[in-house]
Amino acid sequence: MSKVLSRWSQRVIDALVIGAGPAGLMAAETLSAAGHTVIVVDAMPTVGRKFLMAGKSGLNLTKSEEFSTFLTSYGAATDTLKPILAAFGPDQVGAWAQQLGQEIFTGSTGRIFPTKMKASPLLRAWLLRLEAQGVNLQTRWRWTGWNGTASTFDTPDGPKQIDAKTTVLAVGGASWKRLGSDGQWAGYMLDAVAPFQPANMGFLVDWSDHMVPHFGTAVKGCKLTADNTVSRGEFVVSGKGIEGGGVYMVSKAVRDGSPLVADLLPDVSLDEIRAKLAKDTGKQSTANTLRKALKLDPIKRALINELGRGLDMPLADKIKALPFPRLTPRPMDEAISTAGGLRFTALTDDLMLKSREGVYCAGEMLDWEAPTGGYLITACLATGRWAGLAAAKRLQTS
Ligand SMILES: Cc1cc2nc3c(=O)[nH]c(=O)nc-3n(C[C@H](O)[C@H](O)[C@H](O)COP(=O)(O)OP(=O)(O)OC[C@H]3O[C@@H](n4cnc5c(N)ncnc54)[C@H](O)[C@@H]3O)c2cc1C
Repeated sequence: MSKVLSRWSQRVIDALVIGAGPAGLMAAETLSAAGHTVIVVDAMPTVGRKFLMAGKSGLNLTKSEEFSTFLTSYGAATDTLKPILAAFGPDQVGAWAQQLGQEIFTGSTGRIFPTKMKASPLLRAWLLRLEAQGVNLQTRWRWTGWNGTASTFDTPDGPKQIDAKTTVLAVGGASWKRLGSDGQWAGYMLDAVAPFQPANMGFLVDWSDHMVPHFGTAVKGCKLTADNTVSRGEFVVSGKGIEGGGVYMVSKAVRDGSPLVADLLPDVSLDEIRAKLAKDTGKQSTANTLRKALKLDPIKRALINELGRGLDMPLADKIKALPFPRLTPRPMDEAISTAGGLRFTALTDDLMLKSREGVYCAGEMLDWEAPTGGYLITACLATGRWAGLAAAKRLQTS
């Protein structure tokens, strides 16, 4: 493979893709399917590391829901991403995975997963197909910017450069550095980059010692609300604070300053709770009432004790609207994804850099964010394909 590159690095090649995550691999597949020679370069020793990590707890590929609802998950980027996701949305992502021999299933909330849950069988099949299409893959080559029209790299054999007729950049966001997505690339495009922020992350909580026995416990059947975002998902109380899908869903609103409030019995009305508490008053301790009359499990009772202590609120109100203190996000490197990145104003509708003819950008490196639920991978694949198609069209017309 290195021989191939040392040959290519001395002459102009058709298509160069930098970054071998889902966005870059999809761009490579699209370019190659259009008949172009493609080389994919990645800084890490192996490819798709974040994608593989995403599969560790079940690879949520996409989401089955009304397309207009699906789109709203992309917030401020909805209008920009609309044509891109209309061309390659949940149905196409599902079909693509199936073409790679991966059975898929739709969970009760509409989330779509490969039946095997992991990303590794899908990635293996995908890489085999790319290899069969003639796509070349070069690892341990770190993109370091440009020298004129050529892309420059740090490689195990020293600095190299590749001059490609067209390039797709898909170098990821800025979380989980150890998997390759370190955001260093933003240094080469300073003016065009919105500052990175954590997205889909946990929050720090300075728990008292009373909470220690509950660390690692999942809080189920609870409703979290921040601003107008509501989550019924599970979350986990950890030594550092709160984390997990239920929290990630409301994390953007909390990060942006909204208070987080928990309804510990979302399916029981405030009046019913008041009535049950009133019936029990004086007969037993509050802890026993919460346990017996309201059937609150130990973690919910512990949260009421921890967060409700000193609050001037009736007990029933604490159960229905327990406020968390002001929350600080966990460090960005631990976040599932990042907000910020390359601004769409720096790009044409084809995702080409306005400042650099023939260079297209895709994936999480772009300035959009979405909750977990398959929205991330779907938009990475869709923008990778969009950029790949535009790059292929450019090659055909040049
Ligand atoms: C724990 C975890 C669970 C997740 N679960 C899900 C999920 O279930 N569903 C979902 O939709 N999303 C999930 N995600 C998010 C999803 O994995 C990412 O959004 C997605 O991988 C981003 O794809 P990408 O191709 O844009 O970037 P990445 O996958 O980050 O790939 C970027 C590639 O670029 C390379 N690179 C970076 N800089 C350079 C450079 N200078 N030179 C050369 N190469 C470079 C990196 O090595 C990397 O291989 C999860 C993420 C995490 C961390």
